[in-house]
Amino acid sequence: MSDTLTVLITGGAGGIGRVMADRFIAGDHRVHVCDIDEEAVAELSAGNTGITASVADVSSLADVDRVFDELIGTHAGLDVLVNNAGIAGPTARTEDIDPDDWDRAIAVSLSGQFYCLRRAIPLLRRSRNGSIVNVASNAAFFGWPLRLPYTASKWAIIGMTKTLAMELGPEGIRVNAICPGSVAGPRIDGVIQRDAQARSVATEDIREAYQRQSSLRSFVGGQDVAEMAYFLASPLGAKISGQAIGVDGHTESLSNGFD
Ligand code: NAD
Repeated sequence: MSDTLTVLITGGAGGIGRVMADRFIAGDHRVHVCDIDEEAVAELSAGNTGITASVADVSSLADVDRVFDELIGTHAGLDVLVNNAGIAGPTARTEDIDPDDWDRAIAVSLSGQFYCLRRAIPLLRRSRNGSIVNVASNAAFFGWPLRLPYTASKWAIIGMTKTLAMELGPEGIRVNAICPGSVAGPRIDGVIQRDAQARSVATEDIREAYQRQSSLRSFVGGQDVAEMAYFLASPLGAKISGQAIGVDGHTESLSNGFD
């Protein structure tokens, strides 16, 4: 990548977001992250990572406004927004989902992206390499029993991505979504455990079923997702916009045979 980019990654102090932050730093770019996890942000800020960070809940408009004020105060502008923060939400049949759990899942995984987009767009207009990467999921391609709010939020992200690609494309700003499959790590371990509990099936059987969902019969790594975000933000992605790109070994179905 020729130009140094300023990149904001939400949920960037842990999980896939942190791997993405390290990837952009390794490419000599400027990275600011925000994250709800105060301890992880403090650790990040104390370490010699080169990453600047804010504590924030993306579902709070006031927090997101503060993140952008801090970003502008530190880095002056923005070239790339990676809308990554998202939560798994409840695992239950729809009639058993607590409306508060629905509201929280939508607030973090969907409204949080919108709150960041509305602040990022005016800054991206001033960039020569403006782009947006919204993190969705392979759940944006399928129905997924017991995961209604998560699936609804991820399908909505694709709608948002395509709409924004049309709104911003004439100004040279690219907008794409990455749709990861199951990423090896603690988050998917929790998802599998809750799925096993909800269906009264052994955890290992559910884990094997998740691996069978992908044609490559494996989970992906955070690094695989980070490389795609890096590619999309780079000049190599200069003609890519409005896409929902799977990094998932090709998901064949999200039905795991126990529905
Ligand atoms: P994770 O739970 O491991 O990490 C998410 C990070 O976001 C954490 O640091 C967490 O503290 C932070 N966060 C959570 N809620 C937040 C909030 N309200 N405001 C700000 N930060 C918040 O999750 P992950 O696996 O890294 O997932 C990142 C994204 O990738 C999410 O949008 C998720 O839906 C998506 N995704 C993950 C998988 C997977 O298997 N892990 C698969 C498909 C899509």
